Amino acid sequence: MKTEIFGMPLHRLQTALAELGLKKFRAKQIFDWLYQKCVFDFAQMSNLGKAERQLLQDCFSVLPAEIQIVRKMDSSDGLTRKALLELPDGNAIETVLMHHDYGYSVCVSSQVGCDMHCAFCASGLNGAVRNLTVAEILAQLYVFQAQLHLQNERVSRVVVMGSGEPMLNFDAVFGALQFLHQPDVGNIGYRNMTVSTCGIIPGIKKMQGLGLPVNLAISLHAVRNELRSELMPVNKGYPFPDVIAAAEEYAASSGRQVTYEYILLADKNDSDRDAELLAEYLRYKQAGVNLIPVNPVPEKGFFRPAEKRIERFLSILQRHRLHATVRREMGKDINAACGQLRAAFAKDNESKKQ
Ligand code: SF4
Repeated sequence: MKTEIFGMPLHRLQTALAELGLKKFRAKQIFDWLYQKCVFDFAQMSNLGKAERQLLQDCFSVLPAEIQIVRKMDSSDGLTRKALLELPDGNAIETVLMHHDYGYSVCVSSQVGCDMHCAFCASGLNGAVRNLTVAEILAQLYVFQAQLHLQNERVSRVVVMGSGEPMLNFDAVFGALQFLHQPDVGNIGYRNMTVSTCGIIPGIKKMQGLGLPVNLAISLHAVRNELRSELMPVNKGYPFPDVIAAAEEYAASSGRQVTYEYILLADKNDSDRDAELLAEYLRYKQAGVNLIPVNPVPEKGFFRPAEKRIERFLSILQRHRLHATVRREMGKDINAACGQLRAAFAKDNESKKQ
């Protein structure tokens, strides 16, 4: 069986090469090919000897070369590209590339599926299948980086906000972010990385313990206890006021403002009272609010609030001097709720097996 070297630290790669009788400096050359030039095929690594390339090919695998892009969808405004990636074991994950004024960001998944069962999310429909590895998290970014490299562009931000709960795959998520941060890999500053959680408090505390200025986002979505438990069952184990307190501690220790994501669901959580309550909970906190009008899911009774309602909700938050915005609706035409592409892929595969 071949050893996976994508995401392997330099010192470990040096040791692995030495065991094959290769010179240590080859590791740096391979790093350069993989992470700077986005070349994932040993045969193309032209500054290595022919016999060395063959040996590497026989012993090692490079994950991005083994990932299939099953589906690609571009938004009509050209700013968002969504890809459904098939991993070597047949599981599929979604990854999104977004083009902002300040550069490119990639939204990566942390797990195949998710165990959190949020009512509005397709990723949580059938639970988590497994955690993703460091290599699989990194490879999601490099699938896009390889395309951008051809245009002399690069990914400069990463958000862990795709399918899965990052705090339940903590070591791989933060391992991937720390790897990406290295100048000879992604050279992405921690301030340009965001991890989004539905509110797993031990994970927030562990993140604080790392002492990295990574941004924290909390999927809040409701500030009435019963409603939040209905929308997000995680609320029963980690009630949202405790989550906000943990996030505030994180903000104080990291110096980073916390972003609260709030999906606006018509006639569920979009009343004036909800906005007032939200403002009350977050007042005097180092917090920003990102309002996200829902993509309608009629079978679940989720509808997008009218424009006037969205404006009204926003204005109440702003009146309380909260920094709040309505999410720029990038790629709305391809933005079927997160996880739906994968859900369709899994269903397809199931029916093929029958
Ligand atoms: S919203 Fe996030 S935490 Fe909730 S089920 Fe979906 S992927 Fe999991």
